[in-house]
Amino acid sequence: LQDKLDKALQNISGRGKISEINVAETVKEIRRALVDADVNYKVAKDLTKRVQDKALGQNVLTSLTPGQLMTKIVHDELVELMGSTHEGINLSGKPSVILIAGLQGSGKTTFSGKLANYLKLKKNKKPLLVACDVYRPAAIEQLKILGSQTGIPVYTEEGALNPSSIAENAVKFAKENGHDVVIVDTAGRLAIDEQMMNEIKSVHYFIKPDETLFVVDSMTGQDAVNTAKAFNEALNFDGVVLTKLDGDTRGGAALTIRSVVEKPIKFISTGEKMEALDIFYPERMADRILGMGDVVSLVERAQEQFDEEEAKKLHKKIAKNEFGFDDFLKQINQIKKMGNMKDLMGMIPGVGKAIKDVDIQDDAFKHIEAIIHSMTPEERRRPSIINTQRKNRIAKGAGRKIEDVNALMKQFDQMGKMMKMMQGPQGKQMMEMMSK
Ligand code: GDP
Ligand code: MG
Repeated sequence: LQDKLDKALQNISGRGKISEINVAETVKEIRRALVDADVNYKVAKDLTKRVQDKALGQNVLTSLTPGQLMTKIVHDELVELMGSTHEGINLSGKPSVILIAGLQGSGKTTFSGKLANYLKLKKNKKPLLVACDVYRPAAIEQLKILGSQTGIPVYTEEGALNPSSIAENAVKFAKENGHDVVIVDTAGRLAIDEQMMNEIKSVHYFIKPDETLFVVDSMTGQDAVNTAKAFNEALNFDGVVLTKLDGDTRGGAALTIRSVVEKPIKFISTGEKMEALDIFYPERMADRILGMGDVVSLVERAQEQFDEEEAKKLHKKIAKNEFGFDDFLKQINQIKKMGNMKDLMGMIPGVGKAIKDVDIQDDAFKHIEAIIHSMTPEERRRPSIINTQRKNRIAKGAGRKIEDVNALMKQFDQMGKMMKMMQGPQGKQMMEMMSK
């Protein structure tokens, strides 16, 4: 038993400044949640470090609404990382040329159709779609179908093999036919390879796009980062399009890509339908990554276990012999929150017996609470005035027998003794635990 006791006390004394440790634990869980949401580990770590500093600086755990405050801190950090404001695309060219790049299957062709549709309907533009995927006839057909669905012309060259010249010819065609936006859909490969990079670089060189957008599948998670890096080195793109956010991905890749390549995310795609295109708003993505509720409950859990102010007040009261039934009631509430308190206290010689009768079950507490509630404020503050007559009245008020009141008085007495005993150096730490 002594071994167990030493260990328990070691654990307690090892807790040091409890507020900081609780914040640290919460932050660690937030970091885990971010990594689960596909945020790169290093990015998550840097971010949560800043969150921790801010949280401690703002005394999160003693604030009235620590859950909300903590969430706000994390949320604000996320928003800042993703670029606080939405950035639009450059449509100043005559025509404006937009190059779409990315791996095969990332959603380039689908996005090209959506973007054209969006510019036509929302920006009053007259777009031209250009099919530059010369390897797969089906890809050209796919763009044609999207074009006919949205009523947008598609420029193709049957049998042509040079994407750069197709793109150049398309821009010329657009000028001659009054198109003010040219959207160039390109071929991708399943993985980054040299030929693909050279080809897209060449197209980029020949058409000098006003805007180059890198399309990435949000479900590829961590891989998205390497792909983004490679395309950014080759094209120095202007913005990112994050697709397939209609799946159950949390979108953490957005955060990682943004902080690794330092380019804004401009659009998100949330489905296969032509309408499923959205402008990227950092605020909304932050909400999504956080799953809002999660963080609030994390922090609330931490706070429930800890209330420094209360602990200090209680300390003073015990020292001044002012511990009363109201404080006892508070203690009961604390103990109820930490189910395993009894086990811990049971290891302390002499205490185990004192609390043996206190069954740590909500039901048992209900009677105790009822009895305390039947006491007058004066009786709660100064239990010594409770005589037999008063006990009878209290018992009646609580719907209990006088023996129950006696038992409670006895427990209270023992608790008082125990607490004084605990004013010693080891007890002091124990007290801190008690009030959590
Ligand atoms: P590309 O190879 O980069 O041109 O990719 P595609 O545009 O052909 O898209 C590949 C597949 O993903 C197709 O089956 C699309 O319908 C699908 N897709 C594209 N964008 C989205 C999206 O935002 N959500 C969902 N669920 N599917 C998408
Ligand atoms: Mg395609």
